Amino acid sequence: MSTVAGWDAIIVGAGHNGLVCAATLARAGRRVLVLEAGDAVGGCAVTREFAPGFRVSAGAQLLHQMPAELVEELRLATHGLEFAATALPTTALAAGGEPLAIGDPGALARRSAADARAWPLYDARLKRFARLLYGLLAAPAPRLGTGAWSDTFALGRLGLRLRLLGRRDMREFLRIVGMNAYDLVSDEFESDALRGALSLDAVLGTNFGPRAPGTVLTLLYRLAAESAAGPRALAQPKGGMGALTAALARAATAAGAVIRTMAPVTRISVSEDRAAGVVLGSGEEIAARSVISNADAKTTFLTLLGAEYLDTGFVRRVDHFRSRGVTAKLHLALDRLPAFGVGAPAALGGRLLIAPSADYVERAWNHSKYGEWSASPAFEITVPTVNDPALAPAGRHVLSATVQYAPYAPQRGWEAERQPFLAALLGVLEAHAPGLQSSLLATQLLTPADLEREFRVHGGHWHHGDLAFDQFYMVRPVPGAAQHATPVAGLYLCGASCHPGGGVMGIAGRNAARRVLAEVSR
Ligand SMILES: Cc1cc2nc3c(=O)[nH]c(=O)nc-3n(C[C@H](O)[C@H](O)[C@H](O)COP(=O)(O)OP(=O)(O)OC[C@H]3O[C@@H](n4cnc5c(N)ncnc54)[C@H](O)[C@@H]3O)c2cc1C
Repeated sequence: MSTVAGWDAIIVGAGHNGLVCAATLARAGRRVLVLEAGDAVGGCAVTREFAPGFRVSAGAQLLHQMPAELVEELRLATHGLEFAATALPTTALAAGGEPLAIGDPGALARRSAADARAWPLYDARLKRFARLLYGLLAAPAPRLGTGAWSDTFALGRLGLRLRLLGRRDMREFLRIVGMNAYDLVSDEFESDALRGALSLDAVLGTNFGPRAPGTVLTLLYRLAAESAAGPRALAQPKGGMGALTAALARAATAAGAVIRTMAPVTRISVSEDRAAGVVLGSGEEIAARSVISNADAKTTFLTLLGAEYLDTGFVRRVDHFRSRGVTAKLHLALDRLPAFGVGAPAALGGRLLIAPSADYVERAWNHSKYGEWSASPAFEITVPTVNDPALAPAGRHVLSATVQYAPYAPQRGWEAERQPFLAALLGVLEAHAPGLQSSLLATQLLTPADLEREFRVHGGHWHHGDLAFDQFYMVRPVPGAAQHATPVAGLYLCGASCHPGGGVMGIAGRNAARRVLAEVSR
């Protein structure tokens, strides 16, 4: 069957970036069709039932990176977005010991007077650096060596922002930005709990331990996006992350976009050297003036487009884009609240970390380098039912945890390793919340290989590909496709493989739409 509906743009994938892109284009009057392979929109930002009556944010669990002005621009509140909780606290757990509320001056002073003095200065300085970096995240990356006024201007503006930090801050920024997080937090603080929590923040979602070069960059990346999210940062959407992407879908359809789920794209078609439309798994062909892919770079270029349309150098660069995830997700259905011993109910409804020291996090990473899972992994835990009881049957609870590190392909395969890894995870949780195992009603463990299959992300990587200096900014995902346009005319990228990277942020989707609007006149 052949359908030529005269679409201005087809978006492959309804992840949050695809939906932001669709909404932005449709609001500008473009005829937009979104094709999603799965049975629901949202990509890695979805709410799913994992046991009868128990629902959870199945991939991303906390909203802390979407700029407040994008939420306003797309009027997501009007489209149904509500928050169960905002400005969530972070607590570092200690098995059998006193937890540490991060950023609480009193709690920090009880642990270390020196750290209590150092924290406000460190926090303020990193927030200044984060605001600088946000300017770089928010705008499309400039191209090098083009001589174009817009690229020169963007680079100049970056230099100016850096200079405006002032001499002392500028020097400090340049000193630390290439460093590893382990050295930074060890220089600044003496408390293991604080060092561990900050180290985990630096590497959450990455394939790095805190001693890897560039992990101050990934820490600043997180803080930069949070700085634009405003006072709401670290928020839990009511109904889970799927409620956010449902609101984005409503914003897109209200502006005129059409969204089809269960519509897997198997091929991006090319005619006269430009993208001309797509072919679905059903054989249906759909034509469009532009094709914008929310799928990761490897899937887009190597599977959907095909290497025959690309030069060999470009294909090699895409092939080398490092995209093996080492993050797993654990969901537990519980018959009562877990006893993490954090005191105030607000803390239990916040973000709970198991990362008792920077060395602990580094050791946890070591195993994944050799295809092994960590027996003492680091956790980012939420108990979303504290703030949003409707996610579980009355009186029951959900525990959702991002766990590091789990290899994409363990030596003995996940079939053999799944149960031992699950048992190890439950053992660590039991040590921090005694009685947890006796309250278990159901479990779900998503390994990186499961995440790849469930969310159709090559390697199951949180960012679609490592956030490292050689895969960042002007070279993300690869030179030749770093400003949303690709070597094939009419084909664009709009997902986390693009600058600025992953996290539920929406910037890549919005910038891709702006690029298409600037290039393709009506
Ligand atoms: C376990 C885990 C935990 C995370 N936790 C957080 C968190 O707490 N906070 C946070 O901000 N970020 C978190 N992230 C990162 C965040 O979820 C992702 O970076 C982000 O969702 C990527 O969004 P995207 O729209 O670019 O791509 P995706 O969400 O990957 O969406 C891509 C979409 O394209 C579709 N697609 C792919 N191929 C095809 C095809 N051939 N045809 C049609 N459709 C196709 C997919 O089905 C998918 O819907 C987490 C990620 C993971 C994996």
